[in-house]
Amino acid sequence: MRTFNNISKLQKHLIELKNSDKTIGFVPTMGALHNGHISLIKQSCNENDITICSIFVNPTQFNNIGDLDSYPRTMDADINMLEAADCDIVFTPTIETMYPSNSEKEIIFNFGSLELVMEGKDRPGHFQGVGTIVKKLFDIIKPNNAYFGKKDYQQLLIIKELTKQYRLTPKIIGCEIIRENDGLAMSSRNMRLSNEQRIQAPFIRKTMLWAKENINNYSPSELILEVEKRINSNPEMKIGYFEISEADTLIKCEQWKDNTDYIAFIVVEMGDIRLIDNIELF
Ligand code: AMP
Repeated sequence: MRTFNNISKLQKHLIELKNSDKTIGFVPTMGALHNGHISLIKQSCNENDITICSIFVNPTQFNNIGDLDSYPRTMDADINMLEAADCDIVFTPTIETMYPSNSEKEIIFNFGSLELVMEGKDRPGHFQGVGTIVKKLFDIIKPNNAYFGKKDYQQLLIIKELTKQYRLTPKIIGCEIIRENDGLAMSSRNMRLSNEQRIQAPFIRKTMLWAKENINNYSPSELILEVEKRINSNPEMKIGYFEISEADTLIKCEQWKDNTDYIAFIVVEMGDIRLIDNIELF
């Protein structure tokens, strides 16, 4: 595996690969890698000649400085995991590399209503930061395919929109959520959970499965209230949001409609750790 932290050296290497007609798959990450990330790497390896992973904790997508400071950083272990997964290239730029002080003004993106709900509403500026870094990385790497987890489903839709609006090169591929055996969605943030929080955390998935089983027994607003009540009854948890939305547009579901794909989205706060998950309802 080759490691680069310099844009021009990486691009020189990529040009050689592209000149020999190699297809490039790209997996952007913020590191602290787990098997969820590795599933994206493996899918990319299966579908492309060359797989490149970036590791960069992007400051512009954090609206909370405490969250940025406490974000786990495990670079040596990450490199070992990528090596074991047969990743070909890892790109580990510094903040100065991605945000040089003399760089032109950042673009203000218009993601429309996709940005006004859930993560966009709760974390002002978050998707502007995500759009900024992903566009920069796509412009540098120009991959054929780029892989994103459905765990961050709203982010996946935002990236598809970004790619369409700016006619960026890659095809965007959404990948299934990878879970621990007890159902907890894998997340870099899980390693910050206390023992007791970790024992309780699978209750999030259990509650989501309960919601899916009970869509015929409740209206959407009743189901939301019931899920909020159940989560808040766990002493380790506080509900951030539970929302039911149309899968393509994230328009809130007021009443169940036939022939519509709905996804339920949840954020649960466990102490200062924010856990996110979702489930397809039909
Ligand atoms: P992050 O490092 O958290 O920015 O995540 C990098 C990529 O990995 C994003 O596309 C995430 O959606 C994806 N990802 C994170 N956790 C999981 C998971 N448990 N299953 C599938 N994909 C994931």
